[in-house]
Amino acid sequence: MIFDIKKYSINDGPGIRTTVFFSGCPLSCLWCHNPESISFVPQLLHRQGRCLMCGACVEACPEGAIRLDFNTSNERTAESQNTMVPGAVLTDRQKCTRCQTCIATCYSGARQFSGREVTVQEVMEQVKREIPFYEESDGGVTFSGGEPLIQPGFLSELLVACREQEIHTAVDTSGFSNWNVFEKIRRNVDLFLYDLKLMDNARHKEVTGVPNPVILENLRKLVEYQHKVLVRIPLIPGINDDEENLVESAKFLASLPKLEGVELMGYHDIAQAKYEALSRDYKLAGTKPPTEEAMLRAAEFLKSYNLKIILR
Ligand code: SF4
Ligand code: SF4
Repeated sequence: MIFDIKKYSINDGPGIRTTVFFSGCPLSCLWCHNPESISFVPQLLHRQGRCLMCGACVEACPEGAIRLDFNTSNERTAESQNTMVPGAVLTDRQKCTRCQTCIATCYSGARQFSGREVTVQEVMEQVKREIPFYEESDGGVTFSGGEPLIQPGFLSELLVACREQEIHTAVDTSGFSNWNVFEKIRRNVDLFLYDLKLMDNARHKEVTGVPNPVILENLRKLVEYQHKVLVRIPLIPGINDDEENLVESAKFLASLPKLEGVELMGYHDIAQAKYEALSRDYKLAGTKPPTEEAMLRAAEFLKSYNLKIILR
């Protein structure tokens, strides 16, 4: 189950890459920028900004799950204050059976489903088309998500298929997995992009839904097995940018034998529209991205522990 394949990606490892986004994730980070990826089940998105209010989906839905929400005080009522005009399309997600009929009837593209089953061959067909770009740029394929380790059999087959084609592979992971899964895949992975969110276990659980000891332990094991690991820290104001967390993160990372580097990525809130499209609350509404100064300060601090820092 994947929810996207993105070509010409330049932020998910070296060179030009194809990123395959797996569906399903055991974490539920408050700032998740792919909230449609958390569930294994395909997710219905309705983007109100693209909706033409034509009502075609309402008529098409066999479950009667969609309705137009009328609004009398809308600027579209300029001609008459009493004219009822639709203000929004609302979907009763309890009634929705995910039949996808409404997607076919919506010509504006306001309704979409995220998540589909694919075979290894189908993914590889797309991946292989880009081989000239990988060769030109020392790029390759990145498996991301969601959490790719949550589908170990599928991931493992894709990694083997890439190996056969001599395609560089990266796995972007939260690290929250049984070590057996790493054991199954690690020899066919050229680079791990490994998230480090928070050092305090209780706080980690609070904001991601899972504890962190297994994440830290797996990271240490990977490095000790001499795998290439690029650690990625999302810097999120009010969540993990405090001095205590930076100190503990720096101490832990500096204690590891060897890292490719530490990528510091500034939080952004562009995923907020996706939460609206999924009819979910965005818990970090109002949180602003870190300033350039705050990013530089955190980078300088981490550098003081002899860590190689890459700023995003
Ligand atoms: S996916 Fe099917 S059941 Fe769900 S809202 Fe669309 S038409 Fe209705
Ligand atoms: S979601 Fe699509 S089909 Fe439904 S009212 Fe909006 S534009 Fe029309």
